[in-house]
Amino acid sequence: MVDADVVVIGGGIVGLATARAVLRSAPGTSVLVLEAERRWGAHQSGHNSNVIHSGLYYAPGSHKARMARAGAEEMIRFCAEHDVPVRRTGKLVVATRPAEVPRLDALVERGTANGVTVRRISKVELAEREPHVAAVAAAHVAETAVTDFSQVCAAMAAEIAELGGELRTGAPVERIRSRGDGVVLTAGDATVRARALVNCAGLHSDRVARLSGITPPVRIVPFRGEYFALRPERQHLVGGPVYPVPDPALPFLGIHLTPMLDGTVHIGPNAVPAFARHGYRWRDVDGRMLGDLLRDPASRGLARRYWRYGIGEFARSALRPLFVRSVRAMLPEVTARDVLRHGAGVRAQAVDDDGKLVDDFVISRAPRAVHVLNAPSPAATASLLIGERVAADVLDELVAE
Ligand SMILES: Cc1cc2nc3c(=O)[nH]c(=O)nc-3n(C[C@H](O)[C@H](O)[C@H](O)COP(=O)(O)OP(=O)(O)OC[C@H]3O[C@@H](n4cnc5c(N)ncnc54)[C@H](O)[C@@H]3O)c2cc1C
Repeated sequence: MVDADVVVIGGGIVGLATARAVLRSAPGTSVLVLEAERRWGAHQSGHNSNVIHSGLYYAPGSHKARMARAGAEEMIRFCAEHDVPVRRTGKLVVATRPAEVPRLDALVERGTANGVTVRRISKVELAEREPHVAAVAAAHVAETAVTDFSQVCAAMAAEIAELGGELRTGAPVERIRSRGDGVVLTAGDATVRARALVNCAGLHSDRVARLSGITPPVRIVPFRGEYFALRPERQHLVGGPVYPVPDPALPFLGIHLTPMLDGTVHIGPNAVPAFARHGYRWRDVDGRMLGDLLRDPASRGLARRYWRYGIGEFARSALRPLFVRSVRAMLPEVTARDVLRHGAGVRAQAVDDDGKLVDDFVISRAPRAVHVLNAPSPAATASLLIGERVAADVLDELVAE
C-alpha cells in the first residue's frame, strides 16, 4: 500500500503541471503521479503542433482567454529556465477568400481585447514575410512561439522528482473506491491510498470520473488530427507559422503550416472523428467505445449536427489530393508530391449533454477530487496556469476535511 496526500492520474502536461504546482505551493505535501503509459506525455501532450499560442482566438472572459495569454509567457519562461528549446516566431493568420475578411477583422479585435499584439498587415508586408503564401488579407501576431512539449513534460517530471514528488509510469488506474478520509486506487500491481485525487486523464478523463463514482457533465469524443510534412527541399516555402481564419462553428483552428524547431514544416492537423481513444490510425477501432457513443443520445446529436463536416474530413483524410487542395488555398505552389504523411495526434474533445462541442476548459470539483474534464488546445500552452488553478482546488479539498 502506497500513501499520498494527493494522487494525480495522468502524466500528460496538465497532470505534471498540477503535481508541480501542488509541490511548489505546499511544500511537504506528498504527491504521487500515476501514468498508464511507459513515458510522460505519451498521448496529446506528445502528439501536437508544439505551438505556444498567443491567446488570439478565445472568447473574452473564458478560462482559455484568461489562461492562454499569461500561460504562454509562463511557458516561455519555463522553457528558458529548464533548457527546453523555444523560439518566438510570431505567426500570420491569412484570409484566402473575401468572405473571411470580416472574421479576420473580428479576430484582430478579439486578440487585442485579450492583450495580444496583433495587427492587420499590408499585402507588401505579407509578401516580404511569406513570399509563397497567398491571401486576400492577413494579420500578424507577435507573441506566438514554438517549442517541444514532450521535452517540457520531461522537464516537469524531473522538477517534480527534485521537489520530492513520486512518479510512476506503467501504472494504469483501473479502480477507485471512496473512503471517508480519501480514496483507494488500484493501478497495476499497486494499491494507493490518497487523501485527494486529481483526474488529468485526457482522452480517458470521463471514464476516470465515472470510475471515481461521479457522472461527468461531458463525454469525450476522440478526433484524430493528421499531419503531413513538406519534403526537405520544399521547406523554404514557409518561413513561420501560417494559420487560416478558423471556422467559428468549430473549436479547431484549421490546417496550418508550422515550421518546427528542427526545420520540419508540419501541415495539419485536420480533425477526423476517431474510432478509438487511441485512434492514431484508421485501423484503430474500439468497438466498445463506438457502441457506447452510438447508444448515447448526446453523441448522436453531435453526429446529426456535424455529419457534413465529418464526411468532408474523412474524405480529406483518405485522399491526399483533397488534403493538399485545401492547403493550396494558402500555399499555391504545393503539390501532392511535396508532402509526406507525418503522424497524428488524437484530441480529447468534450461533448455536452446536448451534443455540442465544448470549447472552454472544464474543471470540476467533487469531495476530495478535482476532475479536468476538458483540456483541449491551448491547454499545453496554458498548462502551468491550469496546474496552479487545479492545485489550489485540490489543496482546498485537503483543508476542507
Ligand atoms: C493534434 C493536436 C494538436 C494540438 N496542438 C496544440 C498546440 O499547438 N498548442 C497547444 O497549446 N495545445 C495543442 N494541443 C492540445 C494539447 O496537446 C492538449 O490540450 C494537452 O496536451 C492536454 O494535456 P493533458 O495532460 O490533459 O492530456 P494528455 O497529454 O492526453 O495526458 C493524459 C494522460 O493520462 C494518462 N491516463 C489516461 N487514463 C489513465 C489511467 N486510468 N491511469 C493512469 N494514466 C492515465 C494517459 O496515458 C495520458 O498520458 C493539440 C492537441 C492535439 C491532439
